Amino acid sequence: MNKVGRFGEFGGQYVPETVMNAVHELEAAYDKYKDDPDFKAELTALYRDYANRPSMLYYAKHMTEDLGGAKVYIKREDLNHTGAHKINNVLGQILLAKRMGKKRIIAETGAGQHGVATATVCALMGLECCVYMGEEDTKRQSLNVYRMELLGAKVVPVSSGTCTLKDAINEAMRDWCTNIETTFYCIGSVMGPHPYPEMVRDFQKIVGEEIKAELMEREGRLPDCVVACVGGGSNAMGAFYDFIPDTSVRLVGAEAAGRGINTADTAATLSCGSVGIFHGMKSMFLQDKFGQIAPVYSISAGLDYPGIGPEHANLWKTGRAEYVPVTDEEAVCAFEYLSKTEGIIPAIESAHAVSAAMKIAPTMSKDQIIVINLSGRGDKDVYSVARYRGHNIENS
Ligand SMILES: *Cc1c(COP(=O)(O)O)cnc(C)c1O
Repeated sequence: MNKVGRFGEFGGQYVPETVMNAVHELEAAYDKYKDDPDFKAELTALYRDYANRPSMLYYAKHMTEDLGGAKVYIKREDLNHTGAHKINNVLGQILLAKRMGKKRIIAETGAGQHGVATATVCALMGLECCVYMGEEDTKRQSLNVYRMELLGAKVVPVSSGTCTLKDAINEAMRDWCTNIETTFYCIGSVMGPHPYPEMVRDFQKIVGEEIKAELMEREGRLPDCVVACVGGGSNAMGAFYDFIPDTSVRLVGAEAAGRGINTADTAATLSCGSVGIFHGMKSMFLQDKFGQIAPVYSISAGLDYPGIGPEHANLWKTGRAEYVPVTDEEAVCAFEYLSKTEGIIPAIESAHAVSAAMKIAPTMSKDQIIVINLSGRGDKDVYSVARYRGHNIENS
């Protein structure tokens, strides 16, 4: 039995033989470099000098007073270069690609945020960059298409299936196994065949390590609860990972319920999904009775993936982490709330975590601490929230 890359029953490498060659080459390279002192030193320098790490741990005084329970801290991943946590992972993978001698980087993107982060680092490193994006998404997110092109990337619209993220991933996999000699596939979350879920987590775990060190310095102790939003699960895995052995720390993932978990317009994988195999991994997915992947919906383009990373599926199954659904309406309310109370406009993805924390903090005592991982900034979401509220704002 092959137990490589498993988190309990989840994970694995469910890919065709042609992709297996590429997966094995990547696995060997990651094993070789992940503990290499030169590799780690170069990545740490990029985190600091390019991404602006460590990111600030902010004490949310007004929110703490207003909610009347636990002390609220906010991990400011929104202050990273490119405005979200995604840069942490992309810097790691592209540094690995350079060590492997690959000159061409491919990526998939949904809303365009991972595509923009990848195009950014390719510009920095002088590498060719090709981003697969569902044709529907290229229309909905035309500004991000332009941004990627500005950064020197080629954006390839994908017109198969539902013309969205899952189809872009299929197309990127196809490219990867055809061009394995030259090409590195930079995946945007803790998903796909092993070693991706583990590798992406390793490049994001700096978030939780920093939270722990920063809170130790400020409060001299661990938090009682850490909350993060979950799409594929990379910012949450990054925030949670260092706390997994600290069983006193409650770990809460906020998934996108869209119009509600009792409707078809949802992306709440753990509330509504079932076990399946897709995109090279065994995990939890939203699927129909034939096992076909269901269309997903959320106001947040970064959370509408029909699955979840396998390590989360295992944390959920074993009870180490809990996952709560947050609707569009709740996320928009939290988006407005954080803007007004703290002067921080969160990404609509991150607003899902803010909403979950707004429910949990008042149930905790004043000597307890809750940390919200603010995965990104919300400038990109201002128009869609305005539209949601029925405001008519000029935008092109
Ligand atoms: C992409 C994105 C997410 C969702 O991805 P995860 O892998 O679940 O972290 C969340 N927040 C922001 C700001 C994003 O850009």
